[in-house]
Amino acid sequence: MLKRTRITDPEIYEIVADELRRQEHNIEMIASESTAPLEVMELSGCIFTNKTLEGYPGARFQAGSHEADRLELLGIERAKKLYGAEHVNFQVYSGSTANYGVYAAVLKPGDKVLSMRLDQGGHLTHGSPANFLSKVYEYDFYGVNPETEMIDYDELEKKAEEIKPRLIIAGGSSYPRLIDYERISKIAKAAGAYFMVDMAHISGLVAAKVIPSPVPHADFVTSSTTKTFCGPRSGFILCKKEYAKLIDKGVFPGSLGSMHLTTMAAKAWSMKYAASAEFRSIMKQILVNAKTLAEELSRLGFRIVSGTTDNHIVMVDLRSKGISGKLFQDALDEVGITVNKNQIPFDPASPLVTSGVRIGVTSITQRGLKEVEIKEIAEIMNQVAAAPEDEANLEACRERAEALIARFPLYPAGSFEDYNV
Ligand SMILES: *Cc1c(COP(=O)(O)O)cnc(C)c1O
Repeated sequence: MLKRTRITDPEIYEIVADELRRQEHNIEMIASESTAPLEVMELSGCIFTNKTLEGYPGARFQAGSHEADRLELLGIERAKKLYGAEHVNFQVYSGSTANYGVYAAVLKPGDKVLSMRLDQGGHLTHGSPANFLSKVYEYDFYGVNPETEMIDYDELEKKAEEIKPRLIIAGGSSYPRLIDYERISKIAKAAGAYFMVDMAHISGLVAAKVIPSPVPHADFVTSSTTKTFCGPRSGFILCKKEYAKLIDKGVFPGSLGSMHLTTMAAKAWSMKYAASAEFRSIMKQILVNAKTLAEELSRLGFRIVSGTTDNHIVMVDLRSKGISGKLFQDALDEVGITVNKNQIPFDPASPLVTSGVRIGVTSITQRGLKEVEIKEIAEIMNQVAAAPEDEANLEACRERAEALIARFPLYPAGSFEDYNV
């Protein structure tokens, strides 16, 4: 896949080849990552790169759209079937732009939005002051109960009644538990609000039906396709038929330009893959692996936020170990285990330091790791936490981690021959 670049631009080639080495030898546990199947890579770089196209099938702004029309319609059909959705917008480029598409469709500047706090599990695109949309719409936030560390639905309900938002958002990037969509849907209805679920992290688990789907309960469901969905760098929106035109207009021309037909092709392939028995068995194992990791870390003296996990994410409070999220992340990085520091609910530490880490098991589950290996990873993590600045300790941990992951190739042998790695 790098045959020509290797000759014409050795500098770029080296960077990409090094990235393959890094991924191959590391235990990747960033919760927002997964390993894209080879077909996804093939299609993400396919001939559709050359085609510029705007509009929707039957109402395009450029000629020469016959093949692209077939592609988009096939992807939409597959997505509808996979998620049992009435309408699909298949054009958004990512999870973020899926959210922007919904905002553009249903909100006017100054409208009120109620979403989950970023530092308790939400997402930047749900109204963080750091995101430009916080200047356009008026965001308010709900959070988790300090005891259970699960969504405080009573608080959510009270806030919804009080502020009467135009839109309520559920779903986040570091919430390890199931969400009661039915309850929030009722709250939204009573408040006269639209209900959007951002399932960016869990759309693979939902597709495989190993956790409940928000589709029957939400007006709009947005997603990224790079997390548990294991697809290309893209996204999609699902909605009820009555909102089809509104949503499509919100996406184009409301917030985006021409389509990314390459990742659309890869996304359409992924919609078929996500319906397969192979995909389903990976998603099932993800739940088992995440629970195992939470139990093992807990047994080793780490505190697990909310006590456990229902999805692919384990949120760990490191205060019982006397170390910060930043220190643990950096020490694990030296060992070849990639996680990210993350604030935990009511975190006394800043977002740059944090008291916790977020750990995800999607990539390693795709590589074939099961409970036995998860337990070993938990032990390595515990050994790192015991002396995160002791070079000899980290070296010993690195050897353990390398030996473990070497038994589980990232891709079948020979897949990247022209990377020459
Ligand atoms: C990751 C994420 C997004 C953004 O998705 P991208 O595909 O990275 O743009 C949006 N919402 C949530 C909840 C996410 O976790």
